[in-house]
Amino acid sequence: MKKLQLLSIIFLFVIWGCSNEESNSAVEDGTNPAPNLKATGSSANDFLSADKYSSLVIEVFYVGDLQPNAQTLQNLKQFMQARLHKPGGITIEQKQISSPQGTPYTINEIADLESEIRTRYNSEDTLALFVLFVDGNFSSDTNTTLTLGAAYRNTSCVLFENSIRTLSNSPTEPNRTDLETIVILHELCHILGLVDLGSPMQTDHLDAAHGKHCSNQNCLMYYETESNIQNMMQSGMPALDADCLADLKANGGR
Ligand SMILES: [Zn+2]
Ligand SMILES: [Zn+2]
Repeated sequence: MKKLQLLSIIFLFVIWGCSNEESNSAVEDGTNPAPNLKATGSSANDFLSADKYSSLVIEVFYVGDLQPNAQTLQNLKQFMQARLHKPGGITIEQKQISSPQGTPYTINEIADLESEIRTRYNSEDTLALFVLFVDGNFSSDTNTTLTLGAAYRNTSCVLFENSIRTLSNSPTEPNRTDLETIVILHELCHILGLVDLGSPMQTDHLDAAHGKHCSNQNCLMYYETESNIQNMMQSGMPALDADCLADLKANGGR
């Protein structure tokens, strides 16, 4: 059986994508991938404000029967409606794919897969987000640490749905929808520039020892979920704390 208490569950954050060669002349016609190949957090303001994009389209891919719970995607949409200015609306599209058979996956392999299957890229008025629910494991997983998700570009993230399922829906584990929701919201918030990753900190709350995460262990942006999972089972879902909310607001969000 699963030994949750021995696992350290890591929300991996990966800096990837090229930020140096940002091309302002990149055509945003809905088919050119260039505007969507930038570094994680670099499009935070584009998500939070309506200055450049009034609408958002989310393309969700899942492998085989690993479709996320409908409530998870509803929670994602509600979170976005509460934090982002997108008067033109937020649309979610779901697409099933067959297994790439590549487990364990490196971020390079995930990015290659993205380039094969993604169809939505930024257009003039609409920002595009890619979300992948993949089978198998992440390449750095060990017997005692599992990565549940990674935000690896300005508009791209991956969730390791097999691992999420392994750690949910038993009497000693959180509800699957709750765990899916916390992982997808956590990765989204990296894309929204947390912490100190494109949405400038209004007060110092960076957990410098653990990358771009929040120092408050009750916050959604804490670097591991062990304490968060206990919270989820006792007092409900972890949310963004006041410091993280202030950063989003200061960068154009609600
Ligand atoms: Zn993280
Ligand atoms: Zn926080």
